Amino acid sequence: MIGATRGTLAGAISPPGPATLAQRSLQAVWHPCTPLKPGGAAEPLAIVRGEGLWLIDADDRRYFDATSSWWVNLFGHANPFINAALKAQLDTLEHVMLAGCTHAPAVELAERLSALTGGALGHAFYASDGASAVEIALKMSFHYWRNTGLPAKREFVCLRNGYHGETIGALAVTDVAIFRDAYDPLLMQSHVVMSPDARQAGPGESAADVAQRALGEFEALLRERAGQIAAIIIEPLVQCAGSMAMYDPSYLDGVRALCDRYRVHLIADEIAVGCGRTGTFFAWEQSRAEEAPLPARLWPDFLCMSKGISGGYLPLSVVLSRAAIHEAFVADDVGRSFLHSHSYTGNPLACRAALATLDLFEHNQVIEQNRLRAQWLAAAMAALGADARLANVRQRGLIWAADVHPELAGEGFAARFHQAALARGVLARPIGNTLYVLPPYAFDAAQAQWLAQRLHAALDFVLDPSPANEVCHAA
Ligand SMILES: *Cc1c(COP(=O)(O)O)cnc(C)c1O
Repeated sequence: MIGATRGTLAGAISPPGPATLAQRSLQAVWHPCTPLKPGGAAEPLAIVRGEGLWLIDADDRRYFDATSSWWVNLFGHANPFINAALKAQLDTLEHVMLAGCTHAPAVELAERLSALTGGALGHAFYASDGASAVEIALKMSFHYWRNTGLPAKREFVCLRNGYHGETIGALAVTDVAIFRDAYDPLLMQSHVVMSPDARQAGPGESAADVAQRALGEFEALLRERAGQIAAIIIEPLVQCAGSMAMYDPSYLDGVRALCDRYRVHLIADEIAVGCGRTGTFFAWEQSRAEEAPLPARLWPDFLCMSKGISGGYLPLSVVLSRAAIHEAFVADDVGRSFLHSHSYTGNPLACRAALATLDLFEHNQVIEQNRLRAQWLAAAMAALGADARLANVRQRGLIWAADVHPELAGEGFAARFHQAALARGVLARPIGNTLYVLPPYAFDAAQAQWLAQRLHAALDFVLDPSPANEVCHAA
């Protein structure tokens, strides 16, 4: 059957009888980020196993994981090196509480992450998901100011179109309407300031000019309210959930300088952009600080990591902070201590997966290799990027994105593209009209070409579903 997509096909021909895994899943599992339509939600893709870049279903169909399974996977699925490390850890210590106990994986990971900042940041505080890392940074910032005699500093600043997770505290500093609006009455009020998103450039304006404008707006707020503001939280270089909005690195230096001048903490949320995704291990390294040896003050005050840190294997998040922050919590008085408790904090298996991930970065020169991969991706996507139906073509490291003109995309573009790409062997999920790829660090030049061709064919079909643009999966 030519051009059929899974959702429609299943509805048309499923005989009565035992339900498929996808059908049972719709019944038993409340799927995230999936509207429960009265006519039945689109069936999920049932994956049986993973192998490098590929996810494989029960019929042995293979799908290129073009978004690294929601941006978590770094080195492909079922990576033999990480698998071996985890198997060894499993036979040694699966878990122990981290209050009053410790273990080698938690200590080594904390030491190695600190070393990656040249010692500027450290004191790793562990949790399991990104939103919790954000909660921890917000709580620590407020608590620091309280401990240092400035309890009035309790407000937070975030960027327009920024995303920091979906717990109540993290949503309060998130400005993506689709996730936030329903819960708005529950959320603390944050200050939302202009994003440096380079797509806002007016005629004759550069990305750096846009960054300066955004800094100007932040400074205007600081002049008024710095005495009440605890911290600003930003996603360095790319606002990923905010449709892969990219901006000029000069914003990082500017925001650091303003935070110093007005005594406000800077929280860098590297949950999506960390771990080599943008070309350096930390996206923050692309601030101008890169050109000079790093004095501690050029780093953010807090740095949150999650997603890729465990190679995409296990839930793990980490908040790193400056020594001066940690010192403000040293006291006999328990009220001055940071007591955030999480049952699985510092889980040895998750930390072991992260250590294996850092080993791979070192042994395989991943940052250098990714420079090549970024070039292969750019070359492969050139034809698609030149397509007049796309605008704002952009790339930072191993994130490529472009916006389909809204009048061409039409209703439900993301869902239609998702299905069309699946039929062509690619797992991709556009954000609104923004088409993007964020692949595992495991592809070669030929695979990048293959991916680009499949995406282009999917776009041709979605924007013009005529017979000429149809394909079968195996084509
Ligand atoms: C995904 C993400 C989060 C939230 O992480 P979860 O593990 O999904 O809670 C926070 N910030 C950014 C920038 C993210 O991309």
